[in-house]
Amino acid sequence: MSSDCIFCRIIEGSLPSSKVYEDELAVAFMDIMPVNPGHVLVVPKKHVRELSELDEDTGAHLFRVAMRIEKALRASGLQCEGTNLLQNNGREAWQEVMHVHLHVIPRFRGDKVKVHFGQQQARREELGLWAGQIKARLQP
Ligand code: AMP
Ligand code: ZN
Repeated sequence: MSSDCIFCRIIEGSLPSSKVYEDELAVAFMDIMPVNPGHVLVVPKKHVRELSELDEDTGAHLFRVAMRIEKALRASGLQCEGTNLLQNNGREAWQEVMHVHLHVIPRFRGDKVKVHFGQQQARREELGLWAGQIKARLQP
């Protein structure tokens, strides 16, 4: 628990939220500035800043909860023809609230979402080089 963390305060109940799910490890509530109506955040109860600091069991649990919410969204009657699961780590990667969270975002044809990733075609040698660098550091 970190008293200057918005999500910790939501979890302890000192800030309001609209919860859709809660268990011993995680909570899910509506994003206050939704990309589209039905945008949900899945959050671990313990205060951890980024994914790389989170234990794998809790991470897997967050994904399990997000999968259930994604299904519920599709059946909810809210506009949801597709979804994005988004998880930002670090200020450079759009993280604004420094308590790990997973966005579940409903999408539909004609919504107003615009994201520009600026992707560029890579050469096979580069791909092989980068793959090698990552492989060398992968935990078994
Ligand atoms: P991120 O950029 O991945 O850190 O996303 C943080 C998200 O938290 C944003 O989509 C905010 O709209 C959302 N948010 C911030 N404050 C609150 C709050 N009090 N209740 C619900 N969602 C919030
Ligand atoms: Zn927190």
